[in-house]
Amino acid sequence: MHTNERPRLLLVEDDPVLGPLTAQLLAGDYDVEVAADGQSGLHLALTREWTALVVDRGLPVMDGIEMIRALRRAGNGTPVLVLTALGSTAEKIAGLDAGANDYMAKPFDAGELRARLRAITRRFDAAPARLSIGDWTLDPAGRLLRSIYGGHVELTAKEAELLAMLAGEPGRVFTRPELMAALFHPQDSPGVIDTYVHYLRKKVSKSVIRTVHGSGYQIGDAS
Ligand code: CA
Repeated sequence: MHTNERPRLLLVEDDPVLGPLTAQLLAGDYDVEVAADGQSGLHLALTREWTALVVDRGLPVMDGIEMIRALRRAGNGTPVLVLTALGSTAEKIAGLDAGANDYMAKPFDAGELRARLRAITRRFDAAPARLSIGDWTLDPAGRLLRSIYGGHVELTAKEAELLAMLAGEPGRVFTRPELMAALFHPQDSPGVIDTYVHYLRKKVSKSVIRTVHGSGYQIGDAS
């Protein structure tokens, strides 16, 4: 989601060299805070909002597995990547079973760590591969809108995102502020939504998106 705030990452790592080093590696993508033991890590994880957590397996006071288990027991679903010792399959399994979303073995590659964090924090992971919109099928990843009668329309990335968001919940009215917050930068003019709706109607059909006067936009009939 585009917001003013940068994504925030909590790193729970007790190693006095690896902790600051990892924080530095991730500082380009996240505002990073470091906790040096499992208990203060758990406290910070539960009392503040984080985009993701990176948790070392072996930690003082409360180990990484115990910390992740306690986090999940508390109903907290923040994505977690656990750092394990090289080659220890048992540690990887323990981490995933405790509720981690992914793991990496030390020593790790910085680029891979950043890519894995992007993967576990990605927004559209759970979205269906194809969405149905009247006589059309949208493949958001391929930015293609196919007609059931044959033929297709190519969309820009932003047009596909907007259409996928509306089509993801047919019948629901999305307000402009909602669509703005999810799809555009806060500094963009709110009129940008109307501009994209206009583009889509021109490309596809006038009726592809309904205007709900005074509220926003929707796909399909109100239910
Ligand atoms: Ca450690």
